[in-house]
Amino acid sequence: MALAADCSRAPEPPVPACPGCNVVLISMDTLRADHMGAYGYEARDVTPNIDRLSAAAALFENAISQSSWTRPAHMSMFTGLYPAEHGYKALRDRARLSDTIPTLAGVLSGKGYVTAAFTGGGNLDAAFGFDNGFDTYRTNGKYFRDNLEATKYWFEQDMEEPFFLFSHGYDAHTPYLTDALDRAAIDLPESPPKRGLRSFCQSDKQRSSIRRYIAEYDGAIHRGDRYVGKLLAYLQERNLLDHTVIVFLSDHGEEFLEHGRCFHVNTLYREVLHVPLLFVGPGIEARRIPDTVPASVTIASTILDLVGIREHPLPGASLAHFIAGGSAPVGLVVSETERSPDRGQGKGHLRSVTTADAKLIHWITRDEHAYFDLVNDPSELHPITEGGHVDKLSRDLSSWSELHPSRSGARQESSASADDHENLEFQLRGLGYID
Ligand SMILES: [Zn+2]
Repeated sequence: MALAADCSRAPEPPVPACPGCNVVLISMDTLRADHMGAYGYEARDVTPNIDRLSAAAALFENAISQSSWTRPAHMSMFTGLYPAEHGYKALRDRARLSDTIPTLAGVLSGKGYVTAAFTGGGNLDAAFGFDNGFDTYRTNGKYFRDNLEATKYWFEQDMEEPFFLFSHGYDAHTPYLTDALDRAAIDLPESPPKRGLRSFCQSDKQRSSIRRYIAEYDGAIHRGDRYVGKLLAYLQERNLLDHTVIVFLSDHGEEFLEHGRCFHVNTLYREVLHVPLLFVGPGIEARRIPDTVPASVTIASTILDLVGIREHPLPGASLAHFIAGGSAPVGLVVSETERSPDRGQGKGHLRSVTTADAKLIHWITRDEHAYFDLVNDPSELHPITEGGHVDKLSRDLSSWSELHPSRSGARQESSASADDHENLEFQLRGLGYID
C-alpha cells in the first residue's frame, strides 16, 4: 500500500554508490580545510595530490568536526557517537572504549571485510580502544611516510577483498616536518625557524612572525600530501580504484593566533573545527556540497550506506543523500572539547553548535555563551553574549544535550601494560599533549 508523503520521515536511502566495494579512509591529522587548494587556498600549492583527488569527489565545503582534537573526533568517526555520548573529551582521560560499543571496523568485519589500520599512534593508540573491530592495527611512526611500507606489505601479504583500510598520519601536526623537496616545491626558506611553534606562542606572539610558522605548517602538509599521493598511486597500480570508495578527511584544524592562541584542543573556533571531507569512488559524481554538516559522527553511517550495508547499529546521520545530489536531516552540528584550566592553557569544558549562518559556543565551566553572526562575522571575532539569538541557540543546544547523555558503560578501564602506558605517555608528550 502506498503511503502518503510524510515530511517528518527520513528520506529513503539512496541507491548505494558502490555496493560491496573496498573502503579506504584517509585522515591527515590537523589539516585545516582552508589550507587546501580544493578549498580555495591560494598562498601556496600545498596539496596537489589531494586536490587532484578532490576534483573527482563529492566534496563537503562546510564540514564541522565534533571536536578540536584527535581522540574525541576520531572516536566519533568510528562510533557515530558525539563526544557527549562516548565521553572522550578531556586530555587527562585514559579509558578504553568498551567492547560493547559498535564500531565501523566491527560492522564491516562482521560483513566479511578484512580490516586494517596504520596510524600515527599517540591519541589514536590502540589502548583507547581504537583497535576494536580491526584485524590489524599498527603504528610504525607518526607520519604517513612511516607507515607506507607497512601498508604496502599488508596489501601484499594479508589483504583480501573486500577490505577496509584506515590510514592516518600526523603530518600537519606539530612538530611540523618537511623534507628539502617540500621546501623547494613551495619555496620555503632553506631551514625552519629555530624555535618551534609552541615556544614561539608562549612568548612574543607577534602576529607578523606567525607567518613563518604558517609556512612551516604548509610545508608539513605538502609532505603529507606527497605520501598520500604515493598511497593513491599504489592503489591505482593494484587496479583497486574501480571498486574502492576513498574518503579523505581531517579530525580538526590548527590555530595561528586568530584568537590569541596556537595549536588546537583549547577552543572551538572555526580554525580548529572546519575540516576537509571528500568522498571518491565508482558511482560518486563530482560535486561541491555547501551545507553545514557534522564531519565526524556521520562518517561511519555514510560509508556503510555507500557500500550498501543498511542494517547496522551505528547512530549518526548519513551524508549519502548529499553525495547523491539531495539532502537529508543531519541534526544539530555540535562540537566539544575539554582542557584543564589549571595549567593556564585550557578553558575547561566547551560545547558549540554551528548552523549555516550562526554559531554559539557554550563555556560550560563558567556557564557563559558567545554567539557569532557568521554572515557578518565569519572569522568569529565579535562575540555577542546576550539577546534573542543567543537565547534561541542556547535553548537548542541545551535540548540537544538532554537528548545526548553520556552512554553508561561506553568506556572501561584501560588494560594497557605498564610498558605500553609509558610508551603512550612518551608519544603524547612528543605531540605536545602535556595535561
Ligand atoms: Zn588530531
